[in-house]
Amino acid sequence: MRRNIVAGNWKMNLDYEKGVSLFSEIVNMVKDEIVGDQQVVVCSPAIHLYSVAKLSTGVNNVAVGAQNIHQAESGAFTGELSATQVKSTGADYVILGHSERRAYFGETDASLVEKVDAALAHDLTPIFCIGETKEERESGKFFDVIESQLTNAVFHLNADQFSKLVLAYEPVWAIGTGLTASPEQAQEVHAFIRKTVATKYDQNVADNTSILYGGSCNPGNAKDLFSQTDIDGGLIGGASLKSRDFLDIVKVFNAK
Ligand code: PEP
Repeated sequence: MRRNIVAGNWKMNLDYEKGVSLFSEIVNMVKDEIVGDQQVVVCSPAIHLYSVAKLSTGVNNVAVGAQNIHQAESGAFTGELSATQVKSTGADYVILGHSERRAYFGETDASLVEKVDAALAHDLTPIFCIGETKEERESGKFFDVIESQLTNAVFHLNADQFSKLVLAYEPVWAIGTGLTASPEQAQEVHAFIRKTVATKYDQNVADNTSILYGGSCNPGNAKDLFSQTDIDGGLIGGASLKSRDFLDIVKVFNAK
């Protein structure tokens, strides 16, 4: 079901104690300050998952996610985590296809197909990231890039399976750079994504897909971005490491 979602991506930041403490602050602020039914998701490093998932138990609106999984069920894959293992911590979400994983860890559409399938098989909601590089934007090919990322990594799903995904449009040139897509640029791509989903499945599936924007989103620009028709929230990197900034982004939906 389409929902307003603000998801934090802590990336490889925070030691165990600092992560648990930041998460506690977030949970307490969410309890006091959030009205409405927006979903808050914190995607922490694996070391925090079990503890933060425990802290979120029984807290409406707050869930926990991982930042990656391996596609296999178990086995000799040193250093990796399976969907079953992530799910056993109490996490409900997993970021898949983040541009940093595509760029630094060789993640491909083919491996993402398997990861998406593994996540869904274990009841983890993928937050599936797509987006173009600076060169692809400048060459005007960004619609093609986005269409091919969808076609090659998630359009093998049937409509029921696809309905369980959350999509995140993250222009690579905006991630961690302080350069944000303008609300108009982001809306243009979000509308394109929704139209592409409608063409593949149907309008109902498209209308029920949550599509988040990610890329240097902060308390100063979130309102203009989230007020666009096809933007249902954000995937937040840097600003999710400060409880006040993260909550101010979440609170954009209080006024809606
Ligand atoms: C991200 O890593 O998904 C992200 C959007 O990062 P930032 O907000 O720091 O640009």
